[in-house]
Amino acid sequence: MADRSQSYRTRAVILRRRNYSDADRILTVFTPRMGKRMLIAKGSRKTTSRQAGHLELFSHSSLQVAQARTWDIITESVTVESFLQLRNDLDGISRAAYICELVDAFTAEDDDYEPVWELLLICLRELDGALNDAARTDLLLRWFELQMLRLMGFQPELFACLGCGDDLRPVENFLQLQAGGVFCPNCGRTQRGAEPINLATLRILRHLARNRWDSLRDLRIGRTTALAAESVLQRYLVTVLERRLKSTDFIYRLRQVPAERAGEGGSATRTDAGRRVDHRPLDPGSSYSEADQ
Ligand SMILES: [Zn+2]
Repeated sequence: MADRSQSYRTRAVILRRRNYSDADRILTVFTPRMGKRMLIAKGSRKTTSRQAGHLELFSHSSLQVAQARTWDIITESVTVESFLQLRNDLDGISRAAYICELVDAFTAEDDDYEPVWELLLICLRELDGALNDAARTDLLLRWFELQMLRLMGFQPELFACLGCGDDLRPVENFLQLQAGGVFCPNCGRTQRGAEPINLATLRILRHLARNRWDSLRDLRIGRTTALAAESVLQRYLVTVLERRLKSTDFIYRLRQVPAERAGEGGSATRTDAGRRVDHRPLDPGSSYSEADQ
C-alpha cells in the first residue's frame, strides 16, 4: 500500500494511453493544477482490473496517485464523467482526439492550467451531447482552437492592422500567418506571404474569438465560410506549433464517408460496414491510442 503522505489526489482527463507491459498502461493525463502528467496504471490491461473502466480515453476521472521515481502510480480511480456517447461514435472520437491532441501539444508539466481545464471540459461535454450535429461540433472545434490560442498567448490579431495599428475596416483585408494576424489593404499589399481574407471569414473568426460558447452554440454559418475559417486556423496552428496535427487526418477521412455513400447510389449498408471496418483502429479502447505514439 502506498504511503499516503507521498500521494496526492487530482481530477484528470485521459489524453493518451499506451500499453507498457502485459498488464500495465502509461497514461498521459491533463490536470487543472499540475498540468500534464504521465502516470502508470498498474494491472489496468487485465480483464479483472477494477481500475480499467475508470481510465478510458477522454474520460474525466478523479485519481489518487502515489509518487514514484519514474512515473507516479495511479492507486485509485473514479469516473466523474465518462463521455460515453462521444466514445461510441467515430466523429466524436475524432473530434475529442483532436481537442486532446491540441491540449497535449500546448501544455507542459507542473503548471496551473485551470482555464484550459475548464475549456477542455466545456468541449468534451458539448461533443458528448451534440454528436448528430456536425455543423455545430465543427464550429465548436473552431471556437476551441481560438480560445486555446488565446489562453496560451497566441491569439491571432483580427481587429487592428498589424502594420499601422488602425482598426480593420469591413473590406477584404490581408492575412499573414507568420506575422500572426491581419493587415489592412494598404499595409497588406506589401507584405510577403500575405493572402486576401474575405469579410465573412474575418467576421466569423472575430465572433468566435470574443464570445462564450453559450452564445454561439446555435449560430449557423455557410459551409464556404466554415471551411475558410477551418483552413485559416489549421494553417495558423501548424505555424504556431511548427508541426502537423495527426488527428486532423481522421476528421478529414470521416468527412469523406457521406460523400462516398451518395456516390454509391444509396448503398448505406455496405458503406456503413465499410466504415466500421475502415476505422476500427480508431476505437479508443483498442490500438488507436497505442499505435498513435
Ligand atoms: Zn495597416
